[in-house]
Amino acid sequence: MITLNVLKVGKVGIVSCSGEAIPEGTLSRLACRKVLDELRPDQTVTICLPLFIAGGTEERNFARDFPTITVDGCEKQCARKSTEKLSGKPGKSLLIPEILSRHGIAKPVNLRNLRPEEKATAQVVAEEIARAVDEILKK
Ligand code: SF4
Repeated sequence: MITLNVLKVGKVGIVSCSGEAIPEGTLSRLACRKVLDELRPDQTVTICLPLFIAGGTEERNFARDFPTITVDGCEKQCARKSTEKLSGKPGKSLLIPEILSRHGIAKPVNLRNLRPEEKATAQVVAEEIARAVDEILKK
């Protein structure tokens, strides 16, 4: 949940899909967490997708007033579609299968307890999200 007192100009909201059912969803959540905690902690805030969909006012207002990056595990693009429907067009929409394909990385196979190579994949995805944060904040 977003706390209003941390909202400042110069922040980007990160909306990860909550894909519990497929490894790409796990990868999306892990990579977003890395961006929030390690790569761009001062430039990003998390937007909890389930709360956003359930009617979280702060989440919806933030996503309407500030830029967002959505990250989805599959073509259904739940994070992108929910953000577009409930708040507005994301500043950038990323899709895990497209990122993996661009980097020539195999799909992850584990839902939890990622293998070392899958953790490395999470780092690659996180770095791509971080670059998208930088691009948005430069505009
Ligand atoms: S985008 Fe795909 S993986 Fe993510 S929550 Fe939706 S159906 Fe699940």
